[in-house]
Amino acid sequence: MTSASSGTTDVVVVGAGFSGLYLLHRLRQMGLHARLLEKGSGVGGTWYWNRYPGARCDIESFDYCYSFSDELVREWVWSERYATQPEILRYLEHVADRFDLNRLITFDTTAEAASFDQNAGTWTVTTDTGEQITARYLVLATGNLSLTNRPDFDGLDSFTGQWFHTGTWPHEPVDFTGQSVAVIGTGSSGIQSIPKIAQQAEHLYVLQRTPNYSMPARNRAVTAEEMSSIVVNFPSRRRACENSDAGTPLPPATQRAVEVTAEQRRAKYDEGWERGGISALSGAFTDMFGDEVANGYAQDYAREQIRSLVTDPQIADMLSPSHDIGTKRTCTDIDYYQTYNRDNVDLINVRANPISHITPTGIALHDGVIEVDSIVFATGFDAITGALADIDIRGRADVPLSAAWANGARAYLGLQVVGFPNMFLITGPTSPSVLSNMAISIEQHVDWVVDCLAYMRDNGHATIEPTNTAQDEWMRHVTELANATLYPRAHSWYVGTNMDGRERAFTIYIAGCGPYREECDQVVADGYRGFEFDATSTEGTSA
Ligand code: NAP
Repeated sequence: MTSASSGTTDVVVVGAGFSGLYLLHRLRQMGLHARLLEKGSGVGGTWYWNRYPGARCDIESFDYCYSFSDELVREWVWSERYATQPEILRYLEHVADRFDLNRLITFDTTAEAASFDQNAGTWTVTTDTGEQITARYLVLATGNLSLTNRPDFDGLDSFTGQWFHTGTWPHEPVDFTGQSVAVIGTGSSGIQSIPKIAQQAEHLYVLQRTPNYSMPARNRAVTAEEMSSIVVNFPSRRRACENSDAGTPLPPATQRAVEVTAEQRRAKYDEGWERGGISALSGAFTDMFGDEVANGYAQDYAREQIRSLVTDPQIADMLSPSHDIGTKRTCTDIDYYQTYNRDNVDLINVRANPISHITPTGIALHDGVIEVDSIVFATGFDAITGALADIDIRGRADVPLSAAWANGARAYLGLQVVGFPNMFLITGPTSPSVLSNMAISIEQHVDWVVDCLAYMRDNGHATIEPTNTAQDEWMRHVTELANATLYPRAHSWYVGTNMDGRERAFTIYIAGCGPYREECDQVVADGYRGFEFDATSTEGTSA
C-alpha cells in the first residue's frame, strides 16, 4: 500500500473491460476528465481474467465487437467464427492502444469504497492503494460475471497439488501433462475447458452436479472473402443486432413449436443444430421460453443428440439435463459430449455423491476418494451484483448499496439506483444484460450515459437520480415480463441461487435489446422521464 493521496476528476470509471474502454473514449470526446480504476494489470475485464484452456466467445466474433469506429471495424480481422480469449484480449488491447486510453487507466488498483457527499454532490472513491479520488460522476463498469464463486470446501488449504479457478486463471501456461485432474462444474467454463484438459491430462475426473445443455459451436476459420463481406455489410448487420432481442443478427422465429407438425419441428431443430451456436434450438420457435410443452420438445431433441454423441448410454443419461432449456445459460462447445467417449475421462455425479472435503492428495466424496494432482474450479461467479457488492458503495445519507438491495437488486432501466445520484451502472440489473450480446448492450448503455452527462452539462444540472415511482414501476414491469416465462423457475446464476443463502430474484429485462433500446430512447425523448435533476451547481470538479 502506498501513502494516501487524493485527486479530483469529472468521472471515475471502475473496470477496464469492453464497457470501461468505450466509456473513456466517449468521455474524452465529450471533453470530460476521467480516471479509470482497474484491478488487473491490463485491460480486458472478463477476457483478461478468464484465460482457461478453451475459453472463447459464444457470440459470433463480428457481432461481439465495437461498432463506434468505422476504421476499427475495417482494420480488425477476426480469424474464427467464435474468437478465442487470446484473440479477444488482443482486440481490446489494440482498442486501448489505438484510442490512446491506457494513460487514463490506473492498473493494479481496486476501488474498495465509494461514497456520495450530498452537500457537494460528488463521489469519493477510495482505492486499495490508499488513494481518494473525488468526482462528479461514478460509472461502475464492473461486469456481470467478474467476482468468482469458489465453494469453500474444507481442507483446500491442505491440498498439496495445484488448484485453479477458471475465472482467475494464471497468465503463464498451465501444463496438465501426465497429471490426474478434477474439474468441478459443468457450466460454460467447464464445458469449454473439459475437452482441452482431457486432451492433455493423463486422467480427467469431471465432477458434475447438474448437467447443462450444450449446443455445437460449429466453430470454423473466417475466410478473407467472408471478412470483407462482413465489413461491407457491417452497418446493416449491426442495426439488425441492435433491434433484435438477443443482440444477434439471426432473423427472429415466426412460428410456435406447438402449432407445427412433429416433422416441421424436427426440420427446424435439425437446421439449428447444423448451424450451431447458443440459439441453435432456442431460436427455432417463438414459444420456447413461454410454454413448457414447446420447451419440452427442444429438450427431447437435445437429449436425443446427447445419446447419439455419447457411446455409453449410462454416461449419456448422466449428461442429459432435465431443466427447461435456456433457463440456465445454454453452453456452446467443441466436442464436449464426445470427450466422454475417451478412456481417460470419468464423469462423477456429485449430486448423488457430494463432495465432502479436500484431502492433501485429492477430493473426498461422501462415498470414496479421488486422488488428483490438480483441481479446476469451474464453479462460476457471484453474478450480476457480485462485483458491485464487493465495493462499499454508500449513497445519500450514507446508505450502503447492500442495504438498498437487501431484498434484491433494484434499479431503473438497469442504469441508476434510487438513493445513489450520479452513479451509473453499465448493463446493470434490470437491463437486458446477460441475456443479450454484451457488446451491443454495452455500447448502448455507454452511449446513453455519456449523452445523459452531455445533456446535464448543457442544461446546468448537477445531479441525476431516478424517482421511487419510476424505479418501482420498472421493477414491476421487469418482474411481470419474467414471470410470464419459464426463466425464473431454474436454479442458476440468472436467479442468484448458485450462491448459498441468496434469495431467488430474476433481474434481467427479458424483452431484449430492441424493445429496451426503444424504451431508453423514449425516456430521453420524454425529457428523461422517471429521473429527477437537481440544478444546484454546474461546476465541474476538475481543472
Ligand atoms: P456456471 O454456469 O455458474 O457453472 C458453475 C458450475 O459449477 C455449475 O455446473 C454448478 O453446478 C457447479 N458448481 C458450483 N458450485 C458447486 C459445488 N459446490 N459442487 C459442485 N458443483 C458446483 O459458471 P461458468 O461455467 O463459469 O459460467 C458462467 C457464465 O459465464 C456462463 O453462463 C456464461 O454466461 C459466461 N461464460 C461465457 C462463456 C462464453 O462466452 N463462451 C464461457 C464461460 C463463461 P449447479 O449447476 O448444480 O449449480
